[in-house]
Amino acid sequence: MEKGYMGKILMVDLTNGAFEEIDIPDAVYEKCLSGSGLGGFILYNAIPAGADPLGPDNVLGFVSGLLTGTGSLFTGRWMVVGKSPLTGGYGEANCGGNFSPAIKRCGYDGIFFKGVSEKPVYLYIKKGKPELRDAAGLWGKDAIETEEILIRELTEKKKPRVACIGPAGEKRSLISGISNDMGRMAARSGLGAVMGSKNLKAVVLDGNKRIKAADPETIRELSISCNKWVQFQPWFLSGKGVRFLGILMRWLPVQTAMDGMLWKILLRKWGTVAYNQLGIELGDAPVKNWSGSHLDFDKTRSAAIDPDAILHREVSKYHCYSCPLGCGGICRGTGAVKETHKPEYETVLALSGLVLNNDLDSIFDLNDRLNRAGMDTISAGATVAFAMECYERGILTKADTDGIELTWGNTKAMVALVEKMIAREGIGDILADGVKKAAERIGKDTDRYAMHAGGQELPMHDGRFDPGFALHYAVEPTPGRHTIGSQMYYEMFRLWKRDKTLPRPWLMYRKAGKYYVTRRKARAAAACSKFINVLNGAGGCAFGAYIGVDRMPVFEWLNAAAGWNKTPHEYMDMGARLQVMKLAFNQKHGIDPKSFRPNPRALGEPAMTRGANAGRKVDIDRMSRKYWKQFQWR
Ligand code: SF4
Repeated sequence: MEKGYMGKILMVDLTNGAFEEIDIPDAVYEKCLSGSGLGGFILYNAIPAGADPLGPDNVLGFVSGLLTGTGSLFTGRWMVVGKSPLTGGYGEANCGGNFSPAIKRCGYDGIFFKGVSEKPVYLYIKKGKPELRDAAGLWGKDAIETEEILIRELTEKKKPRVACIGPAGEKRSLISGISNDMGRMAARSGLGAVMGSKNLKAVVLDGNKRIKAADPETIRELSISCNKWVQFQPWFLSGKGVRFLGILMRWLPVQTAMDGMLWKILLRKWGTVAYNQLGIELGDAPVKNWSGSHLDFDKTRSAAIDPDAILHREVSKYHCYSCPLGCGGICRGTGAVKETHKPEYETVLALSGLVLNNDLDSIFDLNDRLNRAGMDTISAGATVAFAMECYERGILTKADTDGIELTWGNTKAMVALVEKMIAREGIGDILADGVKKAAERIGKDTDRYAMHAGGQELPMHDGRFDPGFALHYAVEPTPGRHTIGSQMYYEMFRLWKRDKTLPRPWLMYRKAGKYYVTRRKARAAAACSKFINVLNGAGGCAFGAYIGVDRMPVFEWLNAAAGWNKTPHEYMDMGARLQVMKLAFNQKHGIDPKSFRPNPRALGEPAMTRGANAGRKVDIDRMSRKYWKQFQWR
């Protein structure tokens, strides 16, 4: 088969140890692509309505992208899908590294697990032969240790690729993820807990199948042209300069449409941490559990997370598979940890501005601890911030926190609390499932301080700065994720360059105009949702796509890989179908797709009185109604 995809999946029944290879008809790929599209399709059909997310009826899938391994760029992301124990609905997370091509090299587009194993096991696939092996000796080990052991024991000619859980997933923390490439994490939706509930410690892949595209020559030409955009890079950049850019943008009454080439330039130099202080100054990064602003985390404090300070620790760049940009980095660790992944913007802000912590060492330390435990850094930071606010308000006291003084910015307290959350000890057990569950357990109206949408902790982008974020937190089948859409993302994706039916954004506009609710904005938001479904079906990286679809030719690559002749508009229709399928999954499981309204504080209810977002309100109900109409939902 020369269509980019492998044409089959592996279904593993953990209850009886049976393997079933299932051929997937071409028509499914033509409708769903691969990646999260194929994953969502399998889940919709295989998981019975009302299934317990942590029970044997849930199905957990590891799926590769259609473009992965075809010679296209930025297309090495893999997706994990399953019913989310965090939201109760469709769950999805994705990650880079080198795991995605490893799935296809075993001959599959996806590997799915149903049932529950009696004892801890890991899946090992070598030369096309799947096998479940005893993982008793690995249970309790952290994610990096687990990967090291498996690679040490199983490497022959080349290293196998590993995805695994740490102690957080084993203990079914609802904010746990799945790790690959030594601590990179498919973190959202709580799918690490699903893996733990199945007694599945790891998936180890060592295949040698070739991945073949229909038209490799065209893919190559498209990749050469895409790479030229990536390589353009001025040298005169400094971290302080980026912060001043943020101050300038905050003061101006107007805003220009964002060109993703600017973001690409920052990303290539620093990685996502380029946005640290910029996000704070603009009002995009939430501060003090979404109740503060740049005035609470001013330059004397935010200097700790200056991108240059982080770059100073970088010892080498890190590229995911097929990525010409390399936004990742390996950095010097702290204490006994020699090397560690560079924390992402989301992690840094969740562990700094959100909790008023300006100790960079502690951010590196906590990032490493959480990666090892396999716990989502966004959700963990949000949960610590929630607990700190409860402490400040006297709802939690030292007697509740096992003596930890949970004051804002108290670094030692943060480390102690996170350790308890990982171990599910004392107050940690109350907090280990995220803010929604914690608020239910603590009571006393603490849900007012629980910053989530549909159960998932809100990420580090503020809808009061860009209302598009708030909208997507509320309307997506996996709520509370920042990787799908916003007004800024729509500007960067440049979809109108390929699909002429889509609106072209204004080049310059008054900031106040961002808050007007219009049909034009609803069309742009729906286009983001549709496009991300296509991108996640292809295995594409959103950071690549920010340079625009005319520069990162996703649609053209898909045609060349699969031998199709679809128009961009047809791909966007496919994205719409996938979005509706995932929303229908939620309905099947008793969740009203309209029930994911974020915490009112994140919408400006009540409005802030100071800082960049002072006075700003997001009319989420009208925005949502207009958005649903784009999918013919009322
Ligand atoms: S841009 Fe960053 S996250 Fe995306 S593929 Fe490249 S290294 Fe990975």
